[in-house]
Amino acid sequence: MPHSFYELYNLMPKLDCGLCGNPSCQTMTRKIAVRDSEPEECLPLYANSELKKNTQKIKALVREGTEIRATGTIVNEETGFAYIHPCTTEADKVTAETKLMSSLETAANLKYGFFDPLQICVILNTTDVFQNAKCSPSLGIGRAHVNSKTVLISKNGKINVRQAKDKEDAQYTIRQVARALWSATICTCGNASVDCASGGCEQCQTQVCPVMKGGPPDPVVERQHLTQATTVPAIFDRVKTLKTRGYFEEGMMQLDEAFRLFNQTNFRSSMEHSANDSLLKLAEDKIAQANKLAIQFTVETSNVHDAYIGLILSGLAMDSTRIVNGLKRLTSISSEISALMLAHLLPEAMAVATDAYYNIRTADSKKAKQVRARYEEFKERWMEAFRSTPQENLLIAIEKIAVNGFYISRLLTRPLPM
Ligand code: SF4
Repeated sequence: MPHSFYELYNLMPKLDCGLCGNPSCQTMTRKIAVRDSEPEECLPLYANSELKKNTQKIKALVREGTEIRATGTIVNEETGFAYIHPCTTEADKVTAETKLMSSLETAANLKYGFFDPLQICVILNTTDVFQNAKCSPSLGIGRAHVNSKTVLISKNGKINVRQAKDKEDAQYTIRQVARALWSATICTCGNASVDCASGGCEQCQTQVCPVMKGGPPDPVVERQHLTQATTVPAIFDRVKTLKTRGYFEEGMMQLDEAFRLFNQTNFRSSMEHSANDSLLKLAEDKIAQANKLAIQFTVETSNVHDAYIGLILSGLAMDSTRIVNGLKRLTSISSEISALMLAHLLPEAMAVATDAYYNIRTADSKKAKQVRARYEEFKERWMEAFRSTPQENLLIAIEKIAVNGFYISRLLTRPLPM
C-alpha cells in the first residue's frame, strides 16, 4: 500500500523554518515524496541527532512508494457535476458531487496533489463559511455545514454537497466552498497557494503565480485567466474601491495589533516568560481573526480579479503565524539565550520582521529591498553562529522570525495578477 503525505509529514521536524528553501515542511514533504528533494536538504532533520534517524525512515517510505498525486473523477463538462440526484432521505432535495478543477489541471501539474490536507483543516476551523466542521489532516478529508447543507471535502478536490435545494443551489455552494479553499490549492511549485501569497515561494518572484492568476478552483474548466501583472501597492489602491474592503482593512488592523504585541516581547529575563506567553496568545488571536477576514473577503468579493487579494491577506497572516511560533519557541527556551544572541541576532531578526511589515503597510517597495539586503546580512551572521554554537533550537527559532520578514518584504516586489 503506498504511503500517504501525512505518514511522511509526521517524520518531518514541522518547524517551517525555511532553511530548505521552502516556506513550510508540507511543501518539502511533497517534494521528498515525489523525489524532487532529499530529506538531507532539511538542516534541522539532518543536524539533530534525535531527528536524524527519521531521514532513513522517510527514505524507506519513499522507496516503498507514496501516494501524493491527485486522482481525477469523471465530470459532466457542462454542469461540472460527477452526478446529481435526489437525496435518499429528503426527496425534494438533491445530492451532488464534483471534482474541482484548477488552472493547473494537467496530469503533470497535479503531482503534488490538489489541496494541502493541513490547510483544508485550518480553513474549515477558521471561517464562518463552515459550521460544525470536522476534519482529518491524516486522511485529507473534511465535513461541515454550509448554510444548512452538508459538504464533504477531499484532498483530491472532490466536493460532495447534500441537502441542496436544487442544481443551482448545489453549484452555488460548491463555488463558495471552492473560494474558501482557494488558499489550500497546491501550486506547480509544491506550495499551498497561501504560501505563494505569503512571499515564501521562490518561483513567484519572477512570474505571476499560476494558481492565483487562474482563479479559484471550479467545477468547470473554462474560466477567465488573469494575464497582466501588477504590484502590492496597486492592489492596495484597488481594494479601497471594493464593497468588501471592510474585511481587508479590518484584517490588516488585526495584523497591526499582532506586530505591536510582538514588539512588546522581552527575552532578557526568564521572569518575562508568562508575560510573553500572554502577549503571544493575544497575537495569535489577532492573526486568526485576520485570516478569518481574509477568507471572508475571498468568498464575498464578487469579481475573481479582486478576490485573490484575500489570498495576500491570508499569506500575511501565515507569515505572522510563523513569526509567532518562532517567538513562542524562544519563550519556551529563553533561559538558554546567550548574550550574543540577545545583543545581535534576535534584535536583527525582529527588525527584519517588523520593518518588512511596516513597509507593506506603507507600500514602500524601495525600503522592502533594503530589508531583503538586511536579511542576507543577518543570514551570514546566523550561519556563523550555527556553525559555532550548540544552540540549534534557539537559532532555528530566530531564523524563522527573520525569514518570514524576508518573505513579507518580497511581496512588495513580486508580480501579481491584474
Ligand atoms: S528545513 Fe525547515 S521548513 Fe524545510 S523541511 Fe526542514 S524543518 Fe521544514
